[in-house]
Amino acid sequence: MSASSNSAVPTIPHWLAGQAVIGAKERAGDVFNPSTGEVSARVPFASPAELDQCVAVAREAFTGWAATPPLRRARVLFRFRQLLEAASDEIAQAISREHGKTLADARGEVVRGLEVVEFACGIPDLIKGEHSENVGTGIDAFSLRQPLGVVAGITPFNFPAMVPLWMIPVALACGNTFILKPSERDPSASLILARLLKEAGLPDGVFNVLHGDKSAVDGLLQHRDVAAISFVGSTPVARYIHQQGTANGKRVQALGGAKNHMVIMPDADIDDVVEALLGAAYGSAGERCMAISIAVVVGDANADRLIAQLSERVKKLRVGSPFEGATEMGPLITREHRAKVCDYIDTGVKEGAQLIVDGRPGFADKPGGFFLGGSLFDKVTTDMRIYQEEIFGPVLGVTRVPDLNSAIRLINAHAYANGTAIFTRSGAAARAFTSGIEVGMVGVNVPLPVPMAFYSFGGWRGSLFGDHHIYGREGVRFYTRMKAVTQRWPRDVEHKAEFSMPTMK
Ligand code: NAD
Repeated sequence: MSASSNSAVPTIPHWLAGQAVIGAKERAGDVFNPSTGEVSARVPFASPAELDQCVAVAREAFTGWAATPPLRRARVLFRFRQLLEAASDEIAQAISREHGKTLADARGEVVRGLEVVEFACGIPDLIKGEHSENVGTGIDAFSLRQPLGVVAGITPFNFPAMVPLWMIPVALACGNTFILKPSERDPSASLILARLLKEAGLPDGVFNVLHGDKSAVDGLLQHRDVAAISFVGSTPVARYIHQQGTANGKRVQALGGAKNHMVIMPDADIDDVVEALLGAAYGSAGERCMAISIAVVVGDANADRLIAQLSERVKKLRVGSPFEGATEMGPLITREHRAKVCDYIDTGVKEGAQLIVDGRPGFADKPGGFFLGGSLFDKVTTDMRIYQEEIFGPVLGVTRVPDLNSAIRLINAHAYANGTAIFTRSGAAARAFTSGIEVGMVGVNVPLPVPMAFYSFGGWRGSLFGDHHIYGREGVRFYTRMKAVTQRWPRDVEHKAEFSMPTMK
């Protein structure tokens, strides 16, 4: 159903200068409830004039916010943290309605976002510079970290609260003003965040939400008053954002897609492994950038045992409404995405992988919600598209290898390098893995090693373009630029012009 024919559905507004604004709505998109397949709202796409206005508002607000003492900026975030916690159920409901992930999973994402707010509350300490007395006689030196200006965040559909919260608290704490361009598929959570920031005392214009698609993103990439862009989404778009943004002189961190491998050693506890894989591969219907999509099993006997146990559980995954407590997997985000995941299952079969569990029957062609069961492939090899490409759905592949070194070589050769994990009882194997693996985030007997807020999140190779990981201290570095000051106060001694390179005396 297209909402163009249904004027009863609400419009989700932009947020500009502390107010909800529908705008001219020259172009707009449908927001679906993926559990029913129906359109639940419309989202306006910003026009170039609206984008200019939004950047101007953020630019105007920058001077005052940048000059606000970091401790006062932190106090706004302390209040925001309380409000966010109180509103976490409202946000989780909005996420489950528009994204389809289970309510418990949506609540978890809000908590992980809240932790970044807690980290950013420490900004007075985090933003401190360095000081050296007497770098030369009577001369002191110190460094400052100062905000960049207007920064923009462009975020994906799969974490409509957590990923914006990877960016917003740190950027604002550092004294920047912010424009969020959320995913047009599930934009409601961003409006709740905007309202709470205002309630927390954030001055109008410091945080703004601008809806849109590629054209809004291109507008931000080209705007001379946007100093930096944080992007999280798929790899082709991440690469494009990085290229365009840096070509336009902006600082860019662009986090891309993933194909995360979990190595299962013969000494691993198989019951633990099965539980870990079920959650990591099929939780959130596989629509997580840290989802495990390839199980790399060392040894054939180990693989046979795993497949036997895991397949029984995958067949019984409870697929249904995200609002029912027993549900383990909600729907996929759109009908088109479900069709794409089903195509990958076809491709895997054609490529010669063994389809042990097929998640399509009973789901794939059903009208209504965009549900799909869990699928499991065995004997997935590195030449297959289902090995090389990100499927972003409830499909797990098993790849068999003879030993740990082969597992490490295989993972290091993959185009993506976001997260990885090893399950073993051997400290020596775990140590060899964590040391030799060329991937940004590593788990040892932890299937989804999403770093805490006081570390930083980021992959390697095709999973991140730019120099900074996101949030944590890396986030503070990304959202500030350093200034080094060398100072001397006049004394009685006369100074003469020096024509050679100054050296400290
Ligand atoms: P996406 O790349 O399609 O969209 C991300 C954002 O970019 C959205 O706001 C969208 O409006 C915008 N966009 C889409 N196409 C564009 C284009 N051609 N030009 C400019 N902007 C464009 O990603 P998605 O489908 O929303 O999210 C899923 C992807 O995000 C997966 O690949 C997943 O792995 C990745 N992801 C990565 C991380 C990470 O931390 N590395 C985290 C979450 C999601």
